[in-house]
Amino acid sequence: MPKSKVALFGGGPACLMAAYQLSENHDVHIFEKGKRLGRKFLVAGNGGFNLTNEAQGKELQLVYSNHPKLHKALAQFNTVDTRNWLSEIGIETFVGSSGRVFPKKGIKPADVLKRIIKMLEKKGVQIHLDHTFIGFNNKAQPIVKSNENDTVIEANHYVFGLGGGSWAKTGSNSVWMLPFQEVGVQTLPFRSSNCGIDVVWDREFQEKFGGTPLKNIAINAYELNYKGEAVVTGYGLEGNAIYPLVPAIREVLAKNERAYITIDFKPNSSIEMLQSKIPHGGIKPKNYAFTFNISKAVQQIAKMGLNKEDYLNPDVFAASLKKVSVPIQGLRPVAQAISTVGGIAMTEIDEQFGLNNHPQISIIGEMLDWDAPTGGFLLQACFSTGYVVAQKLNEQSNL
Ligand SMILES: Cc1cc2nc3c(=O)[nH]c(=O)nc-3n(C[C@H](O)[C@H](O)[C@H](O)COP(=O)(O)OP(=O)(O)OC[C@H]3O[C@@H](n4cnc5c(N)ncnc54)[C@H](O)[C@@H]3O)c2cc1C
Repeated sequence: MPKSKVALFGGGPACLMAAYQLSENHDVHIFEKGKRLGRKFLVAGNGGFNLTNEAQGKELQLVYSNHPKLHKALAQFNTVDTRNWLSEIGIETFVGSSGRVFPKKGIKPADVLKRIIKMLEKKGVQIHLDHTFIGFNNKAQPIVKSNENDTVIEANHYVFGLGGGSWAKTGSNSVWMLPFQEVGVQTLPFRSSNCGIDVVWDREFQEKFGGTPLKNIAINAYELNYKGEAVVTGYGLEGNAIYPLVPAIREVLAKNERAYITIDFKPNSSIEMLQSKIPHGGIKPKNYAFTFNISKAVQQIAKMGLNKEDYLNPDVFAASLKKVSVPIQGLRPVAQAISTVGGIAMTEIDEQFGLNNHPQISIIGEMLDWDAPTGGFLLQACFSTGYVVAQKLNEQSNL
């Protein structure tokens, strides 16, 4: 009996995982609009390449936005499963001190991608590059454009993993939203997640201190507290201590309310400990950086939050280092964000990621409206959703 055909659209990690899991039982085809697969996966490897995280169970679920369907998928294919799968294809991993999972030393992101692609080719997955999904025909079958030819793709099942809205140069964008809306699927506009914040600082400060890292800080806002790093940029602040706060900031900005964060530049010292550093005769601001072991950028940020009298008072200045309020103008645009929320509403899919009104179509990865911080959680959700759809189709083919 011929194998049933599954057509996947998008060559990112979500579809690559689904294709791998489907390849034993199905005739699998990937249609990717670019000249290469996994371009965002490679970009993800430019900084710290977190393939997943060591968090498991409830701890893992709590990191994601509150979507029971996604939580179920994360339980079905969890972070241990991801590491086992990577090991199965020859990529060994290790857990870093922050719980993030990296490929073992010497294994570059391009090596991981090459390995996945090699395994797919070995398993007979057919990869069609330069093939762009452009819409559906009146039977809700996908149409693909390649070399100026439009072709209706006939398959038993269709899986879409066209990605979120950020970093359009890696291939993902919101162009696919219209065709989905035309077949009655609700989509939500993409909004930035895991992104920098625009801060109301004067231009002189931003020009002088742009690029300065703010290490070992804690950021508080909206009853949340994250330790980590940020960097002063031409527009404000960016970094892993900021990203987890973005959903709360986004919510406040959407209500047109004033948004802010509070930075503790000395999370490991109490106010008393800082004040005890002040010599008996007092000190002048020119000695603050040395006395409190802070950079000139930190001194300047703290100064901006104080009036002149308080700034000149070393006790008040020392105390202020624990609680500098920074007003936020906005979030960085979608194009620059690490990930996005928005896309296909989670209410449009069933528990195994099939569209409610088009059960022959499944949606996986960042194309769906969920949110998670960086740290390997984004790729994990892409892998989990890809796996769950493949499992469903594998079970159906075994009936
Ligand atoms: C700078 C940066 C760093 C990151 N670092 C990490 C990290 O360390 N850890 C982590 O977990 N996550 C990280 N991420 C996020 C992670 O890379 C994404 O969440 C993940 O790639 C999303 O996978 P996906 O398969 O859903 O979509 P994508 O990877 O975006 O893939 C979608 C694919 O669909 C193709 N496509 C789009 N439209 C069409 C069309 N019409 N027809 C055919 N093909 C189409 C695109 O060309 C693309 O290849 C990072 C992201 C960025 C931008």
